[in-house]
Amino acid sequence: MSVPVSIMWFRQDLRVKDNPALNAACDEGKIIPIYIYDTSVPNGREPGGASKWWLHHSLTSLNERLNGHLQFFSGDPEIIIPELMEAFSASGIFWNRCYAPWQINRDKALKASLKESGYAVTSCNGSLLWEPMSISKKDGGAYKVFTPYYRKGCLNAAPPRYPKAPPARITYADVPDKGTSLARLSLLPEVNWDDGIAESWTPGEEGAADRLAHFMDEAACRYKEDRDFPATAGTSKLSPHLHFGEISPNQIWYAIKDKFGDNEDKNIDTFLSELGWREFSYYLLFHFPTLPNRNFNAKFDKFAWRKSAADLRAWQQGQTGIPIVDAGMRELWQTGYMHNRVRMVVGSFLVKNLLISWHEGERWFWDCLVDADIASNTASWQWVAGCGADAAPFFRIFNPLLQGEKFDKQGEYVRTYCPELSDLPNKYIHKPWDAPDEVLKKAGLTLGEDYPEPLVDLKASRQRALDAFSDIKG
Ligand code: FAD
Repeated sequence: MSVPVSIMWFRQDLRVKDNPALNAACDEGKIIPIYIYDTSVPNGREPGGASKWWLHHSLTSLNERLNGHLQFFSGDPEIIIPELMEAFSASGIFWNRCYAPWQINRDKALKASLKESGYAVTSCNGSLLWEPMSISKKDGGAYKVFTPYYRKGCLNAAPPRYPKAPPARITYADVPDKGTSLARLSLLPEVNWDDGIAESWTPGEEGAADRLAHFMDEAACRYKEDRDFPATAGTSKLSPHLHFGEISPNQIWYAIKDKFGDNEDKNIDTFLSELGWREFSYYLLFHFPTLPNRNFNAKFDKFAWRKSAADLRAWQQGQTGIPIVDAGMRELWQTGYMHNRVRMVVGSFLVKNLLISWHEGERWFWDCLVDADIASNTASWQWVAGCGADAAPFFRIFNPLLQGEKFDKQGEYVRTYCPELSDLPNKYIHKPWDAPDEVLKKAGLTLGEDYPEPLVDLKASRQRALDAFSDIKG
């Protein structure tokens, strides 16, 4: 009897270890691993520049792990896959589930048509600790608030699956390469802007495992205290690895529990609950699929956002004259990443002090972040804007000056990304506009020339935001 041949369709699960669909495909027989660069996604939801850079390197790494057997395609999976099933005489296909509304619709349609044509289709959970459909309130409805979702819903549900060992053996079907080359997917930038990103990251399964090991050795046991300080390496930086599925949340969850025990340590509990926020974002996206496009709180549909191309550009380029905001936006541009505390500060500044819609911020992050993720990015932007699920109320407006003074006391973070401010004393590093002339002179700084004057007055812009909010409050 001949051994069955199946397609293993890699998507956001670019790894060999703890990959349930890959394990299942290998148990079945021979495999043909493929990756499709999906061109059928909704407008504006193609991966941004930084994500494409990451994807290229992650696929290179996965292909090496698969001994060069990964076949690459570009186009609409609903057209490509049925053609490949026939061309390869495959009997089935395996994939791990994705959760963006358009991915769910596409997969449902594809599954139905393949099954109708007599193919076996197997989909698995390879990306979440608890899939959104498995958690609901007692009345059957969906949670909208994080703490009960996580503490009552998730932690009382069946524990997450323990990570699987990689397949004992991967046998590749002997088929011709029908795909294109990775280079022809054109994921790398044509002009060279990626040096800073390349210096900061090692995409791929091995890079992810190293990052986790480093975090567990160096930072996990101080996570709760350190995670808010952007100049400290206090967080895991696993987000892009998680987004591309180079590591599963299950691997992280159990690596942490196995090392630190199942105790109540506040650092470990806080870190695991951050993974819970990732789960919550996917949960929200699944149950409220308009999350990327519409305000979760419809009251905000009437909000009078400002349109100012010049202010938006100053924000994007890290030229607002507010040091902690500019440092964050430059970190983003240079490394494809921004510290979580600073993401909240720059988000609040855009939406509240500049009164520019959260959609603009979300779009910019989508293009620049290596961890750009439809669930986490849109849920977090709505949270920052005050219109999201479990969001801080709109009237809580971060004061970027106080945030800088509290979380970057010595100004190390600002000095890293705004070197023109380096010689300012700590007292003025977060408010150069308050520095006396002789201090500015000594620091070699002319405001308005070397570094911008503040784009807005923090007090007045705060009041403007509160006034705009009071118009929709009732
Ligand atoms: P750690 O502190 O080490 O946390 C571990 C993991 O938990 C992260 O890797 C991430 O997967 C998850 N996590 C942590 N915080 C959050 C959170 N608030 N929401 C969801 N998941 C979380 N995260 C993304 O992965 N992609 C995005 O596109 C994204 N956009 C954001 C936009 C804004 C405006 C804000 C305020 C936050 C955004 N986040 C996003 C959440 C958070 O900032 C990042 O996940 C975190 O900074 C990643 O760094 P880390 O891996 O060191 O996190």
